[in-house]
Amino acid sequence: MKIADISYKTPSTNLKRPNFTGNICEELTKVIPNTKVAKNLTMLDVRAMQHYAQARMYRLGITSEEVAKISKLDGKEFCTAAFDLLSKKLGIPTDVRPQLKFIQIRDKDSLACFAPISNTLLIDLNKMKALNLDNAEVFSAIRHEMQHFLQFKDMLRHKEYGEKITDFLLFKFKEGQKVFFENLLDNCPEEAWAQVLHGNPRDFAVLKYMKMFRQIGLESEIDKMFDAMTSGYRSHLVAFRSDIIKKFGEIDKNSNLTPKIKNDYQEFVVGYKDTAGNIDKKRYVQAAIEREAYIAQTQAKYEFLQEPCFVKWFKDDHLKLLKESSKT
Ligand SMILES: [Zn+2]
Repeated sequence: MKIADISYKTPSTNLKRPNFTGNICEELTKVIPNTKVAKNLTMLDVRAMQHYAQARMYRLGITSEEVAKISKLDGKEFCTAAFDLLSKKLGIPTDVRPQLKFIQIRDKDSLACFAPISNTLLIDLNKMKALNLDNAEVFSAIRHEMQHFLQFKDMLRHKEYGEKITDFLLFKFKEGQKVFFENLLDNCPEEAWAQVLHGNPRDFAVLKYMKMFRQIGLESEIDKMFDAMTSGYRSHLVAFRSDIIKKFGEIDKNSNLTPKIKNDYQEFVVGYKDTAGNIDKKRYVQAAIEREAYIAQTQAKYEFLQEPCFVKWFKDDHLKLLKESSKT
């Protein structure tokens, strides 16, 4: 089944580090005189320490044996093993964790994304290969998307926002299905339907009925058909939500987690797309849900590389990136 186009995404490198242009290099290496903690720190020192303090909250505890074991693999096998290891470390039971899928992601800026509507984690292996990403980067990109799953999981198990997110997903599901089928009906010749739908008999029937209802001028029946499809999805989503609550517990309205969940929900509903359908980079980097996923991703990369000191690694990694970006 096709899913609506709402998802969290790991953007490609040019978007992942949107700040590294212009004078940011000078800015980061600028010495701040009379710094309180230690004398003459640079902005980069400060940033590395801030990241250290935040990233350690997302500590996974990955051992060198675990890294060595999955490092023998590559491509799909590596991603699958990385996903298994991360699920285990994050305590996500296999029956509720997202389904891992390898597809070509249409959005040119996305390497991987988490699609809450279908609870799937999508990976574009071709894009990752084209960008020559190493295992540490692939591993951390998967961790980024899993943080979005965790955000989604907490919204779902919240008393108030669980209902809101359910309604929002139902709305998006119906909208996405309509757009998908209308687009096929308008732009794809009937002979090609079977191929596009991968021989799915239900989807095929939907298109046949849509065509017929249109021909006889019963457009209202089309809407009823989508309502019926949405109600099937509703039962699925409601069952999934109660499963999540059973496994992780319900979050009460008065919980101290509520402000974060409220903000996550609001950012999620607004999304990052501008009116032309492109990612609004400024909104993307300012979003707290992305910031959190980025921090979790950074910690995962650090652990995967088994570096001894976070602050040193972070600074070296950034200086390397700054040098590379100043070349282009
Ligand atoms: Zn993201």
